[in-house]
Amino acid sequence: MIDYIQLFNEYHLELPDSLIRQNSLYDPLTHALNIYSFREISAIFLKNIRENKERNLEFQSRGVDIIFFNITSFQSFNEKYGFERGSQAIQKLANLISKAFPGRMVARFASDQFVVMAFSDESVRGIQEVSSAFEKILYDTVCSLKAGICNLPYEEEETEMAAFCDRAKSAADSIKKDYRSTFRRFDHVLEDHLNRRNYVVEHLDEAIEKGWIKVFYQPVIRSLTREVCGVEALARWEDPTYGLITPDLLIGTLEEYQKIHKLDSAIIRTACRETAALISQGKEVVPFSFNVSRLDFELCDIYQVITDCADSYGVPRKLIHVEITESVFDKNPEYIKEQIKKFHQGGFEVWMDDFGSGYSSLNTLKDYDFDVIKIDMLFLRRFDNRSKKILTSIVDMAKRLGIRTLAEGVETEEQLAFLRDIGCEKLQGFLIGKPQPLAELAEHLHHVELTIEPDSMRGYYDDLGRVNLLSTQPLDSDLIQDGDDSIEITQGIPLAIWEYRGDRGRFLLTNKPFRSILRSIGVYSPRALEFDLNDKAHPLHGQVLAYFKKMLQSGKIVTLDQMVNGNYLILHGRNVSSYEGGSAYVIVAHNVSEHAEFSRGIQTREAMSVVFQLFDIVDLIDPKKDRNEPIYIKNQFFAGHALGGGFKKLIGGIVRDTVHPSDRDRFLGFMNAETMEERLSCRDRALMTDYFRMKDEKGGYSWMEYDLFLLRRQEESRVLLCARWTGFERMQSFDENLYSSTVLSLVKDLHQFSDYINQEPKRQFRK
Ligand code: C2E
Ligand code: MG
Ligand code: MG
Repeated sequence: MIDYIQLFNEYHLELPDSLIRQNSLYDPLTHALNIYSFREISAIFLKNIRENKERNLEFQSRGVDIIFFNITSFQSFNEKYGFERGSQAIQKLANLISKAFPGRMVARFASDQFVVMAFSDESVRGIQEVSSAFEKILYDTVCSLKAGICNLPYEEEETEMAAFCDRAKSAADSIKKDYRSTFRRFDHVLEDHLNRRNYVVEHLDEAIEKGWIKVFYQPVIRSLTREVCGVEALARWEDPTYGLITPDLLIGTLEEYQKIHKLDSAIIRTACRETAALISQGKEVVPFSFNVSRLDFELCDIYQVITDCADSYGVPRKLIHVEITESVFDKNPEYIKEQIKKFHQGGFEVWMDDFGSGYSSLNTLKDYDFDVIKIDMLFLRRFDNRSKKILTSIVDMAKRLGIRTLAEGVETEEQLAFLRDIGCEKLQGFLIGKPQPLAELAEHLHHVELTIEPDSMRGYYDDLGRVNLLSTQPLDSDLIQDGDDSIEITQGIPLAIWEYRGDRGRFLLTNKPFRSILRSIGVYSPRALEFDLNDKAHPLHGQVLAYFKKMLQSGKIVTLDQMVNGNYLILHGRNVSSYEGGSAYVIVAHNVSEHAEFSRGIQTREAMSVVFQLFDIVDLIDPKKDRNEPIYIKNQFFAGHALGGGFKKLIGGIVRDTVHPSDRDRFLGFMNAETMEERLSCRDRALMTDYFRMKDEKGGYSWMEYDLFLLRRQEESRVLLCARWTGFERMQSFDENLYSSTVLSLVKDLHQFSDYINQEPKRQFRK
């Protein structure tokens, strides 16, 4: 039986009977002391050295430290390597600590936490020894070992051992996110922090009762309109003694002490009360979102709290959005899934907060049903090409899943413009406004001339927000593209959103490639074009109005081809959302003659217009790379040609939707990319022509003529596909020689044209 314990080599502590009788002084896994025996033994030790100051001169002169070790995110280690290896790592850490602090008292506090009592002059060296050895075990994980040191002050006679351990722990916690530090000593800054934490825990009820807890609102704007479409309700504690206490201290502390639900309930109640007051004053209100903690789901029935508040203040549920972070899924994911469903059924939107900040964000998206993801501000902090690419793919992916997007932490106009261009729907950040009390927010919005989005427009703009500006098929009728397995990140498609309010039109959005098309036709700003198109005397006014009307009435993709300032422009457009006062349209533009190489090749406009008069479709094919580059499409009926997707996929689609069943095999044979080049090479003019019955606009079948020309230069070769409707009679009297010589003289004799052919297509629809 153990009746004494060695603390500092020669210093032995006799154990009291209560401890001797206890069977387990030690932690079974690591053989370090367990937390209970540590508490008792260290308390006796502290009492002894305080009582026998003369006898314990060495302790006084060298000083004694409590060192707290903690592995951050150790849970992820277990997830990665399994529980068994997790336990081995903990044993290893215990051994390393005992080795680095020989003859000192070592205790295991919790799964990944250890405490050591050592002389002050031994602490730093010991910590460094443990850290550098343990780093090897953690090297390919997100975990790291942190240590905090607290010196035992002899003057604080009243302070108990547990408080010193807390201080050491808070020192270790304070460097959790600081990748460069391995340890920190408890100091006055931390002491102040710790005091505030204790204060917060002890005075929470009083703060709620006395109204010290305030809601600050941060505005959210819609990127398309720059109107305020929401606010986030954030907690602030305005304390009579300490001043403003912010969430960085508040939330963590209250979570640790399991009191966070009290704060969250107070926030939701206040936000409902303040919203109800605005409504009763007849003011325009926007929805508010607020943050729910992971622990709210355990500590209270948070759904009930929210519905009670909403109902008792009479706030419509569509004005309340619940923000949750992915950490809620750590425990009991099935339960949370149910809760999300319940919120949805109850009429609340559920938003995912801080998307991308954790390591399982993508999984969470896959498994849970969110209305909006709030993209973490981390991606905007380093606003370089890499993070732009990541942001672009997040927005693209979210839209494919039918989830709307909000970017947090927008601080510059440049970030705002980028996010709007990639179709990120809502924006929040200091550029737009800081969190502030309601009254100040109203003043701020007035000052910076931000208007509030009317309630009646919300659904309309939400619909518009679902258009995926990044898709190769932004006109797709479902707007959401699932089943499209090609995740490509391109801003290559020139695209705009046009809105009519009454008979006045405006661009809600033009992306970069679209603006460059405008420039190529001599229009230097979208605003200038807007002005012209709204001018009834302008020649294009009536035509454009009719074009949009046709889209609205048909609900389908409508194509317009138009010569503008000597450029051949093709527009495909579709109505995407409407309300009683207006409507919005997505427009994809192609400036056929803008192809610099193309126009260099076909030097004269006349030659070009001959091609365009002769054909309904001109495509450039690279059969080896399965690529097709639409050069010209006359008819909306073939709009599919312009939307990319690889040559084989294109042919597959045409066969399925357009070719007469009896002609399908022949068509597939004719278009076979594997053999195309070989077949064409055998022909003396490298030309092949055939005729197929294709579904026409009237729903019947008409003959269409397809021509393939092989264009070869050195090793490279491409095939030019030209197609046109042809009357049966014309087909009978077809003079192949005459016809092909016209076309061939156009395309083959102009050798510059093959320059174009041999270059990588500039406007790439699909990689
Ligand atoms: P969050 O929900 O992601 O809230 C956004 C935080 O980012 C806010 O900090 C806001 O002030 C800050 N922020 C907004 N725009 C910018 C910007 O452009 N630049 C920078 N650097 N920061 C910006 P805040 O209010 O300190 O809140 C911090 C976190 O505390 C919140 O992050 C949220 O997770 C939590 N929180 C706040 N209020 C509550 C609450 O009532 N309940 C719960 N459970 N958590 C809350
Ligand atoms: Mg939030
Ligand atoms: Mg956030």
